[in-house]
Amino acid sequence: MFNTTTHPQWNYTNLGPNKWATICPRFSVADNYQYQSPINIPLDSLANQHQSMPAITGSSIETNYFQDIFKPVIFNHSLHLLPTSHKQTITFNQITYRLDDIHIHRPSEHTLDKQTFPLEIHLVHRNDFGQATVIAIFVQPNQDGFLPFSNLSQAFKLDATLLLPPLAHYVNYIGSLTTPPTKGPINWIILTTHKSLSTPWLSAFKAIVPIPNTRPLQPTLGRPLNYY
Ligand SMILES: [Zn+2]
Repeated sequence: MFNTTTHPQWNYTNLGPNKWATICPRFSVADNYQYQSPINIPLDSLANQHQSMPAITGSSIETNYFQDIFKPVIFNHSLHLLPTSHKQTITFNQITYRLDDIHIHRPSEHTLDKQTFPLEIHLVHRNDFGQATVIAIFVQPNQDGFLPFSNLSQAFKLDATLLLPPLAHYVNYIGSLTTPPTKGPINWIILTTHKSLSTPWLSAFKAIVPIPNTRPLQPTLGRPLNYY
């Protein structure tokens, strides 16, 4: 496992989320973006509205992940899994985004009907113009849950498809990065079914990311939340 430090310094304790915007002009400008993340997803009311609407052509998401070699790196107070092929993609609304980074927050940053999950995985994708789409996956521990990888000291093979829960529904909204600089717009895809990961693996993860790395909920400010 590799460690890198970030400049300027920020964290989740003495230089925590309520101080990020004061750390440097770049962070301050990013914080001025109106639609910040994470937010609460009012799943019950979105699902009810959805059922009462006539059938519409929905947004489409397609993942094109495959078994790749990932390098585990600790930075920005999380474990990041960096793919080495740079050829894994998703297509969302006919736009292709490349998988750049997978990292994990504990506990979850977004909430579903105010429910927090033990972990939230972020799969960060960018297109050729640098625009980002992040898929968020809520995780619950389960003794028989999926074991993503066992050795954090070296590169490992993983098919990111195996991190996805059954893709039943998702919520799409426009927000920001949740770590400094918290700039937007970022296209968020919040999967509404959780994934079960191995309980021992979750414990091992908490040992290497010992301090919670979650930004508090941000105001939704009436922005559209699209349920598919
Ligand atoms: Zn994240």
